[in-house]
Amino acid sequence: MLYYDNNIAQKQPELMKYFSLGIKDESKNLGHCLLFWGPDIKVQCELALEIARLFNCSDDGNADCSCINCKWIKENTHPAVKIFTRLDFKDLDQDSATGKRNITVSQAQSIINELSITSDYHRVYIFCDRDEAGNLMPLNKMNFPDDTSNKLLKTFEEPPQNTTFIFLTNDKSDIISTVVSRAQSFFVPSKIENNQDFSLVSNLLDNYWNIERNSVLEFENSILALIEGNDPKTILIQMENYLGNILKNNLENKILYFKVLKDLGYVEEALRQLNLTPAMNTSAVIENLAFKMIL
Ligand SMILES: [Zn+2]
Repeated sequence: MLYYDNNIAQKQPELMKYFSLGIKDESKNLGHCLLFWGPDIKVQCELALEIARLFNCSDDGNADCSCINCKWIKENTHPAVKIFTRLDFKDLDQDSATGKRNITVSQAQSIINELSITSDYHRVYIFCDRDEAGNLMPLNKMNFPDDTSNKLLKTFEEPPQNTTFIFLTNDKSDIISTVVSRAQSFFVPSKIENNQDFSLVSNLLDNYWNIERNSVLEFENSILALIEGNDPKTILIQMENYLGNILKNNLENKILYFKVLKDLGYVEEALRQLNLTPAMNTSAVIENLAFKMIL
């Protein structure tokens, strides 16, 4: 199964710009552990592979580069760029992998052993899950259990040179907190579309990042008032559109950019909660969202 997508820089221009600068310029302090969260694991994996490609390209990093490193990464055969799932380990044959539920401690040990040998490449190890058909799925505490994470904790904290670990998940709370605290987290939006309607929420969200913590109830009530007269999901979708628009226009303002990106994650999370069956209580979802957005 091939996961690389040539169009990833167009799909996630803001994040790719951030990572490519971080890879070129060491002073940007791009972390050794990156945690991607959000609804779309496939696009997270595409991002991770593009990061791996930019680290390893022996030419100028151009998207259509055909150097051996880029070629291998696109074909999923690069010796130092690996996707680890409960079903993908080199010691595991297809038969013994069937029905296997999680990444085990002995697999963690084999990663540690592998990393003790130096590599000429920049190693990028991507952790996620997949089903037998190859569909990518998020990491969680079932497929990446505490004892496996704990085995690797020291490695995540002090990896060998030129090594990056990337974790793919839906929600940060699905991963053991000791790993989360060692990682730089990035919400990966499933889509940011152009020219989407946000007319109902533009007053609400105008400069919302300046709202003081002691006004959070007011902010919450303003959202609830909008929801009175409209479908709650419409309001949340418009909030997504608004925040997506802010992101596009604030690529240079890193603090604002990452604040809004995180909030976009909270809005997507709230939408997911309303789409559950049975749906969560709308007021509770909105209260939670308001308190997360207003720091
Ligand atoms: Zn290349």
